[in-house]
Order: sequence, then C-alpha cells, then structure tokens
Amino acid sequence: MVLAQSEQAGAETAADPLSAARRQIIDGARFSSASDEVVQLLLQPARVYEVAIPVRRDDGSLEVFTGYRAQHCDVLGPAKGGIRFHPAVNVDEVKALAMWMTIKCALTDLPYGGGKGGVVCDPGSLSPGELERLSRGYVRALAPHIGPDRDIPAPDVGTSAQVMAWMVDEYAQITGSFEPAAFTGKPLELGGIPGRAEATGLGIFFAGREALHDLGRSVPGTTVAVQGFGKVGSYAARYFAQGGARVVAVSDVFGAVYNPDGLDIEQLRLHVDRTGTVKGFAGGREIERDQLLLLPVDVLVPAALEGQIHAGNAGAIQARLVVEGANGPTTVEADEILAARGITVVPDILANAGGVIVSYFEWAMNRSRLSWTAEEVQRRLEAKMKTVYAEVADRARRINQPLRPAAYGVAIDRLAGAMRARGWVK
Ligand code: NAD
Repeated sequence: MVLAQSEQAGAETAADPLSAARRQIIDGARFSSASDEVVQLLLQPARVYEVAIPVRRDDGSLEVFTGYRAQHCDVLGPAKGGIRFHPAVNVDEVKALAMWMTIKCALTDLPYGGGKGGVVCDPGSLSPGELERLSRGYVRALAPHIGPDRDIPAPDVGTSAQVMAWMVDEYAQITGSFEPAAFTGKPLELGGIPGRAEATGLGIFFAGREALHDLGRSVPGTTVAVQGFGKVGSYAARYFAQGGARVVAVSDVFGAVYNPDGLDIEQLRLHVDRTGTVKGFAGGREIERDQLLLLPVDVLVPAALEGQIHAGNAGAIQARLVVEGANGPTTVEADEILAARGITVVPDILANAGGVIVSYFEWAMNRSRLSWTAEEVQRRLEAKMKTVYAEVADRARRINQPLRPAAYGVAIDRLAGAMRARGWVK
C-alpha cells in the first residue's frame, strides 16, 4: 500500500530530484531482498535541519541566508555528504542528494549513512571575507548535529577545500577540540588526504574504463564529451585524456568548446584558471553550451547538475555510454529512453563514488593518525571501484536489467541486512 502510494507520487513529478530518487529506490528494491518496511524507511530522510545564517556583508549590511542539512539514513553509520553553495539549493534537492548518498555509501560498503547540506547563495557574488563568514555561520548553526561520529560534511558544488578549512576551524572554536575527522576534503595542512581533489574524476575514469571493456571497447581512441569543468569534470577530462581518449568537447555554465581532434586538457585548465571559464579557449571552437550533450561521441560524462539529460534531449543523445559524474544528471524518463535505445548508463551512485571512497580514507586516516601516500590512495581507489563495478555488472547480468537498478539492488540489500540486524524492520 505504502509502495503503491509512493509509486504514484514518484510518477507525478519524476523530473525533480526528490521524486527521481524515490522512484529509483522503489525500482531498485524490486531487485533486492528488501521488504516493504525497508523501502518505507528509505523514502524519507530521518532528519532535516533548516537554519538561518546571518552574515555581515562587506558594506556593513546584514544578510540572512538559508541553510539546510539532511541526514537520510544512519543504519550503517554516521551521515556523510557534501555541502552545496548554489542559488538553486532547496530542501527537496538536499533530501534527494542525501538519499543518493545513503545508497552510494551502502553500494560501496562504507560505514556511513547519507547526508547532504546546502546554502541558498551565489558564492561567485560573495567576497572571500563574506564566503568565510557564511561558511563559519553554517557550522555555528549546525555544530550540535555534526561531528566525526554523527555527520561528516565534505565539499560539493560551489564549496572547496578552503571552505572546509574554515569549517574545521569554526568547529574547533565551538567544541574546544581540533577534530579533523569532522570534515573531509580538507587542505593537506589540516589533515586532508593526497588525491582527494582528483578522486571523483579518477573514479569516473575507472568506472568508464570498466564499462567500455564490457562493451568490447577500450579507452585509447574513444571520444569523450564532458559537461561541467569544475572539481569533478576537470579531473574526469584529465584522466580520460591521460588514458588515451580524445576529449573532444567540454562545457561549463558559460559555454562549450569543441575540437574533433581532441582538446589539450592541461592547456584548457590553465585557460580556466586565468579566465574562469572554458569559453575563449584557443585550442577549440565555441559551440552552444547544451549542444555538447548531443555530439557524436563514444562517451558522455555529465558532471554539472541534476536533470541535464531529460525527456526532451535523451532521444537525440548519440553517445554509446553515459558515465554519470554529477548526482542525478538523468531524469527517470530519460533513463528509460536511453535504455530503450541501447545506451549504457553507469549510474551516479557507482560512477562518482570515488569522492566519498577517498573521503572515507581521509576520515579513517584522521582517526588513526596515520598518513597515506597519493600512490596508496589511488591504488586502493582503483581496487574499490573495480570491485564495486564488477558486483553491479554481475547483478545486472543476472537480473537482465540496466546497471542502475542493479546497483540499487546491491545497496538496498546491504541496508536491509543492517536494518534487520538492528531490529528496525522484520
Ligand atoms: P563545481 O562547482 O566544482 O563544478 C560545477 C561545474 O558545472 C562548473 O564548471 C559549472 O560551470 C558547471 N555547470 C553548471 N551548470 C552547467 C550547465 N548548465 N551546463 C554546463 N556546465 C554547467 O561542482 P563539482 O564538485 O564538480 O560537482 C559537480 C557534480 O558532481 C554535482 O552534481 C555534485 O553533486 C557531483 N559530485 C561531486 C563530488 C565532489 O567530490 N565534488 C562527488 C560526487 C558527486
């Protein structure tokens, strides 16, 4: 009954991230051993905090920002997930992103639940001082609810290692003890781990490489388009290029560049460092931003925001393989269209899990007071991504379904086992 009602709710507005996340949980649970009770528990977050964050602007005025933190399910451990600074942040988006974190952590067998936070703001319009006061204000508002055994934030869209550094410092001022394990994605000087900045992009490369092998292809010579050139997309592009692929197109919020012979990604990074955008890069020609999604490439990596591949453009996508760098870049309708057209999608909860996997290494390193080398981090990340990909691909073959429901099935089985063991469900 609960499922039937939820299915209806999911079907009505499947384009928004929360409905999409619910729909994916319901669909995936069909390929797991989970009972209706487990699904009921997964369809809404355990807790959501909404806070007001007063910030003194540089001109002396006071602005009150709205912040959120959702803790979705902590059956496997403390909540874990990024903090997003973006004008479009809203409570339903934060809830959806926290749900996806629960599933991602369970899929990758990490001792975490799902969390996510956000502040409704345009970080580009804040001075460094205003950004610091906002970051510190977020921690002041939420300090009682986060911590290394409760909820461990990390960077996401619009936040950075510097933002994490201010947050660690504010948390230390409030609690009276320096707790590097309370945040991940920190600068190296504050207990950050070598390779965290690269981790999500590198994990996307490993997942893409495994999926290409399953399609009888290999990375050298394949063509790739990457939407978004931030913390995730820029490293995904770098590793595909280093692996011998031709990255022919890259976009950001301002526009896109295209070069059928392959873009020089290191030169493009220097150009973006100088100008703040991929636009105007001399090593390629400008194309319309959203045209990137429809280019005749082998691999498409959406690494910007949710809902970019939708019912309106999924029918025109020419890539053979979509590797989801962003969280929720494909709507439920688009997913069905891509599956019907024989396009393989490596789902976000698998493809972009490199970030949380290396965040876990960072947290474990902080708690043990040991330090790991960049080589060790990369080796462990590669091993983990290969293991998780193989488990999902194997389940997909056995149930004769795409990778997404297979991945949800694996993750929900793990969550259901823990819920049963803790006596939460029958
Ligand atoms: P970011 O802020 O560093 O970069 C986002 C990029 O997307 C920027 O280049 C921006 O210009 C671009 N962009 C925004 N709207 C666009 C549009 N309409 N078309 C093309 N480009 C657009 O953020 P990020 O950390 O790289 O995160 C990107 C995605 O990856 C998000 O969905 C995030 O939740 C997800 N993710 C991030 C991490 C991480 O470790 N940072 C881990 C897992 C998943």
